[in-house]
Amino acid sequence: MASGARADERTDSKLASTPTAAAARAADEPALPDGSISCGSANRGALYNGARMPDRGFGWVTPQTWSKRGVRYGTDELVGAIQRAARTVAAQYPGSLLGVADLAKEHGGAAAGHRSHQSGRDADLLYYAVDENGAYFAPDNVMPVYTRHGKAYYSRAPTWQKRIPVRYFDLARNWALVRALLTDDVATVQAIFVSRRIKVWLIDYAKKTGESPELIHLARHTLAVPRHVQAHDDHMHVRVECGADDHKAGRCRNDQAPSRGKGRKWRWHMRCPWTPRRPGA
Ligand SMILES: [Zn+2]
Repeated sequence: MASGARADERTDSKLASTPTAAAARAADEPALPDGSISCGSANRGALYNGARMPDRGFGWVTPQTWSKRGVRYGTDELVGAIQRAARTVAAQYPGSLLGVADLAKEHGGAAAGHRSHQSGRDADLLYYAVDENGAYFAPDNVMPVYTRHGKAYYSRAPTWQKRIPVRYFDLARNWALVRALLTDDVATVQAIFVSRRIKVWLIDYAKKTGESPELIHLARHTLAVPRHVQAHDDHMHVRVECGADDHKAGRCRNDQAPSRGKGRKWRWHMRCPWTPRRPGA
């Protein structure tokens, strides 16, 4: 969200008074952004001026397990997209709350339990659930694992629990969430990671309820089943694309940083590629 006028002004004055190398650097350097900047890749990156996802709002809640971890920051696009999608689902199905788990740390970088989530473009969302009578089941402090018939009775994260209150995958709300994310006006969703089985359920549901072929095509390509990462049978992982400002100021990359070998995670802290200057500094 760099102001073009501001960038031009500064570039002009620098060009007039400094040697060529410094002028070239100045021309490269973007003006101080007003909004968030995602830097680097999702698996090796940082976040500047990230937005904090509020713990509660119209249509969503962050259960305590995640709110106390503090991994709650994202780009303006990501945080906005989650709020707008949760609101859309709650408007369609009154009383629904989307469970929002981890996003990124305040300045991004490696977060415990995640390989990506480093640059503010990733978020984990709990699937909407219903009870055995089809009544809405509010998110609690676990990630229920949805088994073959959509039934969940145990969890793997954040801790292994052999027995949790039984619930079922809520097709209608989960599809409404995917639909809202895919049709967001501001953010472009790059991928929604789900398990193979859940992708089949969602696409079948979309066809059965008469969604347009264009939307189904988009869902087919955006719902992704990762090869190496653990199955997303207990949460949905949403990644938004780099925005124009992220590309420009943060060297944001939609592709992953090359692996360190044997699937090891990038751990050291990467800084955003430029040092932001405060106005007047
Ligand atoms: Zn995730």
